[in-house]
Amino acid sequence: MPADPTAADLLAAARADAARTVDLRRRLHRQPEIGLHLPKTQAIVLDAFADLPIEVTTGSSTSSVVGVLRGARPGPTYLLRGDMDALPVHEDTGLDFASEVPGVMHACGHDTHVAMLLGAARLLSERRDALAGQVVFMVQPGEEGYHGARFMLEEGLLDAVPEAPVSGAFALHVSTMWRSGTINVRPGPMMASADQWTVTVHGRGGHASTPHLAADPVPVAAEIILALQSMVTRRTDVFDPAVVTVGHLEAGHTDNVIPETALVHGTIRTLSPERRNDVLASVQRVGEHVALAHDMTAEFVHVEGYPVTVNDADVAAQVTATAAALLGEQASAVMPVPLMGAEDFSYVLERVPGAMAFLGACPPELDPATAPGNHSNHVVFDEDALPSGVALYVQMALNALA
Ligand SMILES: [Zn+2]
Repeated sequence: MPADPTAADLLAAARADAARTVDLRRRLHRQPEIGLHLPKTQAIVLDAFADLPIEVTTGSSTSSVVGVLRGARPGPTYLLRGDMDALPVHEDTGLDFASEVPGVMHACGHDTHVAMLLGAARLLSERRDALAGQVVFMVQPGEEGYHGARFMLEEGLLDAVPEAPVSGAFALHVSTMWRSGTINVRPGPMMASADQWTVTVHGRGGHASTPHLAADPVPVAAEIILALQSMVTRRTDVFDPAVVTVGHLEAGHTDNVIPETALVHGTIRTLSPERRNDVLASVQRVGEHVALAHDMTAEFVHVEGYPVTVNDADVAAQVTATAAALLGEQASAVMPVPLMGAEDFSYVLERVPGAMAFLGACPPELDPATAPGNHSNHVVFDEDALPSGVALYVQMALNALA
């Protein structure tokens, strides 16, 4: 139980409003949409904002929504984020509010993020007198690889209140990796950078029986893949790590033809910009030079992904302390290590100090170690965790604008 009586009141208010939060979440869950253009989702969000004293604007290049709540007194501007896109996954949970769109599912729980953010907007609207400053509600599309946050930044997200640019930011993400209702955060790197790359080896096609008359790109591609793993272990400081995974390999169509090309396609995850740049350059160098060693060429293409998500150390400490005061010491933990997944809230945290935290949402009857995880077609998030997330969003804003 929270020691702080105002914290107890806030948590009680979030719990009292839980039915509306869950209802909004389930409506979003039934109608998931993918990418940057989410018209049905946006309509639900706009409807939820409509009866609140919040100025709302929508994006011009995407379905983003920005809400501004002005406090009773002037002050700084604090940003709270919820992302709202789904994944190309066919839902197999059997829930009675399961996705009604075949092949599309809120498998990363972004529906819960929108519902919690709107719950926080309701509670903060009732507490305007306690706010010296503004709260910006960032409701973003396209988190799942579409750089939705970057589009919003380009459209002036941080200047939503022109006289007081955003000076702090906070986001929550649900996960079944932790017990329901717990808050998990860490200072510094929280999630990894994620870059895509391809190496295409250009050989010369021919008959499988006469490789000496052709230039076979297949063993070269195999050599590149192994050389990349040696590169990672020999060049990378274990305390500033990198993951290089080849997830896609393509060459040829049959047994008796040497193909012209071989494609190697993978991802790079790192926890620092220095490591990221070095590994990118190394993948290119290894690819090109292994091919050269066999008198072939290789073409390297980099598709830039999200940068490292870096939490401000002071803000992360505030999150831990605030969660402990709100939810109890046992519900607030510092993560020993980052996750190697990626997040486009990283773009916001590159510009303003802030933090992202994980809200544990593993159903109580399951074990977080083995429960279906985010992005699984079987993942189920415990809705009893949502009031805790709502209360934390509200308390972070109240603290920032006290
Ligand atoms: Zn997600």
